[in-house]
Amino acid sequence: MKNAQGRKSVANGFDFSHGLEGLDADEAAVVRRRQKVLGTMGPLFYNRPLHVVSGSGVHLRGADGADYLDCYNNVACVGHSNPHVRQAVADQLGRQNTHSRYLQDEVLDYAERLLATFPGAIDHVAFTNSGSESNDLALRMARVATGHMGVVVTQGAYHGITSLVSSVSPSFGTGLPLAPFLATVRVDDALHDADGSGDGTGDGADGAAASDAAADAVWAVLGPRFNQAFDALEHGGYGVSCVLIDEVMSSDGILPGARGWIARLADAVHARGGLLISDEVQAGFGRMGGVMWGFQRHGAEADIVTMGKPMGNGIPVGGVAYRHPIGDAFAACTRYFNTFGGNPVSMRAAGAVLDEIERLGLVAHARDMGDRLARDLSEILEGHERFGGLRHAGLFLGIDVTDGGGADDGGDARPDGAAARAIVNALRDDEHVLISAAGPGDAVLKVRPPLVFDDSDADRLLEAVRHICERGLFDR
Ligand code: PMP
Repeated sequence: MKNAQGRKSVANGFDFSHGLEGLDADEAAVVRRRQKVLGTMGPLFYNRPLHVVSGSGVHLRGADGADYLDCYNNVACVGHSNPHVRQAVADQLGRQNTHSRYLQDEVLDYAERLLATFPGAIDHVAFTNSGSESNDLALRMARVATGHMGVVVTQGAYHGITSLVSSVSPSFGTGLPLAPFLATVRVDDALHDADGSGDGTGDGADGAAASDAAADAVWAVLGPRFNQAFDALEHGGYGVSCVLIDEVMSSDGILPGARGWIARLADAVHARGGLLISDEVQAGFGRMGGVMWGFQRHGAEADIVTMGKPMGNGIPVGGVAYRHPIGDAFAACTRYFNTFGGNPVSMRAAGAVLDEIERLGLVAHARDMGDRLARDLSEILEGHERFGGLRHAGLFLGIDVTDGGGADDGGDARPDGAAARAIVNALRDDEHVLISAAGPGDAVLKVRPPLVFDDSDADRLLEAVRHICERGLFDR
């Protein structure tokens, strides 16, 4: 079973095998202490792991006393230590926080509000404590509802850590075998050049036509690949239960893609008797800008939607929203109970997050701020040899870092993970700006700040990137 060769390490991960060289005394002591009890199973970020002691808004304070600009954390979507969320949690802790086999108003209040954000036939919800649990439950529901077992995901997908979900998450590598009922589809080449800027709800007649043509072009490449994956599962005797798709393709390299292509994917999986599970753990709750849910960018009909990360602003809570016949089929042959799922404290936290998203207009803000960052970052980076392009939807940006290609070897620019890593660490160490990396070769810079990121935060990020450019980190 042991297969160290198949192991894939996390992008921007601290390298435990290099020891504590280069760390200051505090960092080294805390890493040593952590390693003694937590081992090395769980990754740490950065060459010098960051020791965080407090947070507020889009700022994290380090044990070194420095103020770090958080351009990475989507969980704290309405800001670190958000006062409204804090108040809701504290209030509920003082009332009651027991399990869901009683009648409770908190879960009903939240379920009604959450479901009102979904279009179409999505009319029921079950609550979990994480994105992984959400995907795990969704896969089981899809199996029951379709009578099929086969799962299709993208080639670099990450969907979580349970036994089932990790077996359909190729981003772990093959150190543990992936599921035999899994088929994967390469998408990075087809989605690489599409940027998802602007309002995900559509750009009027011309924009919609342009977007249709772009979606058709994507589907001309990806349609045959998905159909091939469906064929393989059918020939293997598994059938097609679902396509499970991260709407922003975070671990595939941040590929929001041309609007509309996911609608074609939904039709294709339905034609095989399977379901579309929209994994909104990354894309959901307004992150894509202009829309609450990633699948809405595409005008697609999802059958099941899974949620987590930003839902409780750090309080563990996840959810599975679905069309009710899917849940009815599940209920007819088994049941779902989750001790902490839907607990009143988590529900109050999640409700407070929705309050803040509405009060601060964060869905529109994610679109506007994302477009501003995309425009200004592109302007700064344009012309630098290692800049390979920028893609974004809302406040989720991916910046390709390459080896510069061209002159010396006459070849095309190739992804350069080492150069991306140098940029991520220079931003952390010298500018106190936190981003990370993702994608093939870990060569895509990942910029995904809390949704409350404002213009002065943007100015600070841009200034930091200018410094990095002046130091030549974006040139060969
Ligand atoms: N789906 C996606 C797309 C994710 O990015 C993640 C977490 N990175 C998960 C599911 C799993 O969520 P969690 O870590 O809350 O279990």
